[in-house]
Amino acid sequence: MMGFKYRSFAPLPRDLSLEELVPRDNFYRRLEVDLDLSFVRDLVRPLYASGGRPSVDPVVFFKLQLVMFFEGIRSERRLMEVAADRLSVRWYLGYDLFETLPDHSSLTRIRERYGLEVFRSFFERIVELCVEAGLVWGKELYFDATKVDADASLDSIAPRFAVEAHLDGLFEDDEPATDAKPDASSPLPTADDEKLRAKNAAEDDWISRTGRQRREVKGVWYKRTADFLASKTDPDSSPMKRRNGKGSHLGYYAHYVVDGGKARVILNALVTPFEVTENAPMLDLLWRSTFRWKIRPRQVTGDTAYGTTENISAVERAGIRAYMPLTGAGKKARPFFSKEEFAYDAERDLYRCPAGEVLLPRANNTARRLTVYKADAGTCERCELRSRCTENKTGRQVLRYFDERYVDRVRAYRGTFPYEKALRKRRVWVEPLFGEAKDWHGLRRFRLRRLEKVNAEALMIAAGQNIKQLMAFGGWRPRKLAQVAALRPPSRPAKQSRHYARMVSSTTQTSDSRVFQQAGKLRRGDLLDTRSASCT
Ligand code: SF4
Repeated sequence: MMGFKYRSFAPLPRDLSLEELVPRDNFYRRLEVDLDLSFVRDLVRPLYASGGRPSVDPVVFFKLQLVMFFEGIRSERRLMEVAADRLSVRWYLGYDLFETLPDHSSLTRIRERYGLEVFRSFFERIVELCVEAGLVWGKELYFDATKVDADASLDSIAPRFAVEAHLDGLFEDDEPATDAKPDASSPLPTADDEKLRAKNAAEDDWISRTGRQRREVKGVWYKRTADFLASKTDPDSSPMKRRNGKGSHLGYYAHYVVDGGKARVILNALVTPFEVTENAPMLDLLWRSTFRWKIRPRQVTGDTAYGTTENISAVERAGIRAYMPLTGAGKKARPFFSKEEFAYDAERDLYRCPAGEVLLPRANNTARRLTVYKADAGTCERCELRSRCTENKTGRQVLRYFDERYVDRVRAYRGTFPYEKALRKRRVWVEPLFGEAKDWHGLRRFRLRRLEKVNAEALMIAAGQNIKQLMAFGGWRPRKLAQVAALRPPSRPAKQSRHYARMVSSTTQTSDSRVFQQAGKLRRGDLLDTRSASCT
C-alpha cells in the first residue's frame, strides 16, 4: 500500500537540545575537538574598542570561514542561509535553535576590518599547529603556482590611467577604518637595534607588497600589457591565457610553498597578478618560510619557470640544492649549436666551440650581469660548421652570466637520482593540492576582488587544507622540539616593568630551559622533558 506523509509539527520538547540533535560522529563535532580557535581573539583584540556594543565573536567569524571552506560556499549570504538550517553548523558555531545568527553583511564588514594581516596570522598559526604536531619535515620544499580566474570580465578592460584616475577620485577622502593594525610579527622576537628595525621596515618584498607589481621597474626588452590596460572591475588582475586554447581571461597566480613531509603542509601562500612571472616571488617565499618556521631545507624544487640564474645562484649560495630544470636543457630550441655544446674552460676563462676554436670574453654587461664571449669574425667566416652555428656576420657569440657557475652546478645535478626523484615528487606533491583547492574549495575562480582580498581568500583556503592534514595526521607526536620551542619564544618583559626585570634576573633558570618548558606546555606536556629537548 502506498504510504502518505501527513505534515504536522509539534513544538519541540523543552528538554531537547542541539547536543542531542547533532549526531555524535558529525564532522563538525570532530573539528570542534581537534581545533581550538580561541587564539583568534588575541589576533584581533587591537582592532576593537574597549567599550560599546559587543561584536560578533571573532571565533564565530573564523568558524564561519571554515564552514565556507568545507562546504565550498562562495558568498556570505549563502553561508548564513546554510548556517540557519543546518543543526550541525549551529552547534559548531555555538548558537542555539532560537538564537539569531549574525547577519551576512556583518561578516563582510568584519572581514574588511580585519584585513589581510589577520588572515595571514591565522594561516601562520595553523602552520604552527602543524609544526607542533610534527607534520612539518622542513628538509625539502616544493614550489608551484597555478592560474586562478579573477571575478572580472575581459570586457571591463580600459586604459590604466583612466582606471587609476577613477579609483583615486573614489577613495581620495577615505579614512582608514582604524589606525590600530595588528602586529603580524608579534609572535616572533624582534631585534632591539632601532637602525636594523628601520632598515627591515624599509625593505620591500613580494609578501609585504601583497604580490603587487612594481610598475616603476620597466623591462628592457618588452612592454607589459598590464602597464597600459587595467580592468575597471578588478584593477589588480591582469589578462591571462587559458590552457588548451580556451581563450583569455583576467586572472591571478596563486603560489604555494609545500613541505616535503608526508603531510604536505602548505608553508606559505601568496597571490600575485598574472603578469608577475612564477619565478619572481620565489626567493621571498623561500626566505620567509625558512625563517618563519625555523627550518633548514637541503633542497628546493620547482619547475622550469623557477630555474632563473638569479633564483639558482641565491639558493645555491645559501647552501641549498636547487633542483630546477634549466630552460632549454636537453632540447635544441634552434637549429644551431646550443650553449651546452660549447665547453667552458674555467681556468683560462674561455669557451671552446664544436670546431675547436676559442671564444674569448669581449664585453661585460653589468646591467644584465653577463659577459659576452666571441670568436674572431674571420675564424667563423672560414668555418665549415658555420651553417650549423650562426647566421651572424660578426661570428658566433655565447653569453655567460656572472653567477653561471651555480647554473653549471645545477646542470650537473641532471640525471642524478636525487634530482630526478625530486622532479618526479614535485609533480605529485603540489599539483594535487591545487586540484583539491580548485575542485572542492573554490580556487578555480576568486569570489573577491583586489589583491588584498584575494590574498586573504587564498590564505583561508590554504589554512583549511592544512587543517584537513592536521585532522588526518594530528595523532603524530612533535619530533623537533627545538623548532617548536623556537616558534614560541618566551614573551619579553615590558620595558617599564622593573619588578619583572628584577624577577627575571634573580631566577636561576637558564633562558634555554625556560624556552623548552614553554614548549612543553604547548601540547602533550607529559611527552616533553628538558633533557630530551636539549639533545635535539
Ligand atoms: S662558426 Fe665560429 S664558433 Fe661556430 S663552430 Fe665555427 S668557428 Fe666555432
